[in-house]
Amino acid sequence: MNMNTTTNTTYMTDSKPNIMTVPPNDPTCERLIIDFHTHTFPDSLARRAVLKLSQAASLKNYLDGTLLDLKKSMQRSGIHYSVLLPVATKTEHYLSINSIAKEVNATSKYDHLISFGSLHPDNANYKEIIDDLADYQVPGIKLQPINQLKSIDDISYLRIIDYAVSMGLYVLIHAGYDISSPGAEFSTVAKLKNVVNTIHSEKIILAHMGGINEWDLVEEWIIGKDVCLDTSFVLTPLRHICQNGNVTFKEDGPLPMEQFIRMVRNHGVNRILFGSDSPWSDQGESLKAILKSPLTEEEKTAILGENAKHILTEWL
Ligand SMILES: [Zn+2]
Repeated sequence: MNMNTTTNTTYMTDSKPNIMTVPPNDPTCERLIIDFHTHTFPDSLARRAVLKLSQAASLKNYLDGTLLDLKKSMQRSGIHYSVLLPVATKTEHYLSINSIAKEVNATSKYDHLISFGSLHPDNANYKEIIDDLADYQVPGIKLQPINQLKSIDDISYLRIIDYAVSMGLYVLIHAGYDISSPGAEFSTVAKLKNVVNTIHSEKIILAHMGGINEWDLVEEWIIGKDVCLDTSFVLTPLRHICQNGNVTFKEDGPLPMEQFIRMVRNHGVNRILFGSDSPWSDQGESLKAILKSPLTEEEKTAILGENAKHILTEWL
């Protein structure tokens, strides 16, 4: 989901108050569940930011965008940890975003939130920014070409990705089109193909199973390459808000289950990470979509938490 708003520069200012530890409240679920793809905003801005983004995409939001609402959702859904993915939409945004990410990660074992950092492709001091994140044990960075307005195979991104993975950081990239910016081609599968053919690293994570609404091309060009894929926003029903305020929805997610299973197995189940894209999908519904899928129990365990655990061990 496009986070094209300046409000997400300080996406979370009050991580300390109102924190509750998050025991899984689903007694039937013994698995470790990690949602690798979520977004929150500062309390003072959250409702306005989510409304604006929701209207831009005519898309229903499931939470109000606050940290507290995400924590309640985690408790309700039996999600043990959530990974927050902020985006720097201007060159100066990395300062506030990364400072908050460090704060969040300092208490990750207690409040069960882990934040990525971010930077903008026009940050000439990208090495310094990445060194700083690595020093402070931030696990990775989020890149969102559609609202950073630059193609993902541009040299400015390639050098950031190359340096970040060389320093041990993961790089999570929005993949494919974006429902709130129809036609924007900054991160299409054709461009992502150039990235994965240039930089070979399993520290690159492509969101939305490698390219939302372009999965035939993902199967052709991305599946089997040295990248991880997240499951966010691909298996849950799409709920649109009509002009009269009614909500219409397509019962199935945009990626057919049969194709999803084929992609998972051909790519390698150990390189697939569960994600919801909350607040734009419901965490519980996203979790159920995996649980009720025809994947084996071992495959579900790997996707829902074990694969992420290997990436995030020091923050859990
Ligand atoms: Zn997202």
